[in-house]
Amino acid sequence: MTDAGESTDRGWRIAWGAATDVGRVRTSNEDSFVAEHMVFGVADGMGGHQAGEVASAIAAGILRDRLSAGAANVEVAEAAVVEANAAIFHAAHRNSEQRGMGTTLTAITVLDDEQQSARLAMVNVGDSRTYMVRDGRMRRISVDHSYVQELVSTGHITEAEARLHPRRNIITRALGIEPTVRVDTRVLPLVRGDRYVLCSDGLVDEVDDAEIERLANEHADPQAAAEAMVAAANEQGGRDNVTVVVVDVLEGDDPTAHTSELEVDPAWADPAPDRLIDAEPIHAAEPSHAAGDATGVIAAPLAAPLSMAGGAAGGQVGSPRRRGLGVLLFSVALAAIIVFTVTLVLVVRHNADNAPAQPTTTTSAVSTTTSAVSTTTSSTPASTAP
Ligand code: MG
Repeated sequence: MTDAGESTDRGWRIAWGAATDVGRVRTSNEDSFVAEHMVFGVADGMGGHQAGEVASAIAAGILRDRLSAGAANVEVAEAAVVEANAAIFHAAHRNSEQRGMGTTLTAITVLDDEQQSARLAMVNVGDSRTYMVRDGRMRRISVDHSYVQELVSTGHITEAEARLHPRRNIITRALGIEPTVRVDTRVLPLVRGDRYVLCSDGLVDEVDDAEIERLANEHADPQAAAEAMVAAANEQGGRDNVTVVVVDVLEGDDPTAHTSELEVDPAWADPAPDRLIDAEPIHAAEPSHAAGDATGVIAAPLAAPLSMAGGAAGGQVGSPRRRGLGVLLFSVALAAIIVFTVTLVLVVRHNADNAPAQPTTTTSAVSTTTSAVSTTTSSTPASTAP
């Protein structure tokens, strides 16, 4: 599926091309894209039973509805993403087949408030990417919300190692998983000659940045560039759906005026994400996760910071861990009841043997029991702490 077009307004003109493909392994395409006059985005859905397709389509549809005429300011763009998150979240809760579905979203939209020259707003959630090509040099201007990005940001692995990491598909933010979502936003000048490349991870997992840059520089036509990148991903294996939207600024601000502030800010990565989300869609034919979560969403909170290499593995086995804690608490409660009962029996027997009653001894014995139970309970968390 492809799409190309051109759009113009006061002082700016942009052209675009877009292509998406199921790839060489998957049976369905759960990516969606939007390429309308003033908004361009890529969404990579996840969830079983084709629910990812639904999630990414909801995101693309809401962006199209809200931003095809651009936005007055970046808050309007951000609000459209928040609205998409809520729409997916509620759709997932209305339909059990779609429970746990989610999507990434990266998009740019034209800001035209009529007070100043047009600019672009970028919004991003998840690990789909927005790149900018200026003067032949490509830079990433979105930060992945992913486990491996966190490892890169904290210096534990290199970008090259991240591309081969077995957990590179674990993302830390997505639309539709929580009732609310944090959205990365960035405002950029609309500079003549700039090219933006938006893509799903089906491109970046197969084709490295140097090759994407080479293809972006090789094809002047945005549609040809998008199709060349999709073809390159398929040539490298095409193990995932792949989607590319290329946007060219044909007229805009003077290119010499804005050459700085193009590096990404790694502070945007999630330092301690609440959830890890398996971005690989789970199909019926594939084995489900150990935790038995068919939605592909791993809801366990991280017990340790992501700087520990085993952090993700620890998070993924969170459900069994929660079950283990429940069993432990039940055992402690049972032990307390047994201790209390035995003590009570001993006290009653003692009182019977020493009639008439000796209240001082009884009180002391009960008091000791309470203290013993209290000690048992308080010592439990310490002995099971990871
Ligand atoms: Mg993907």
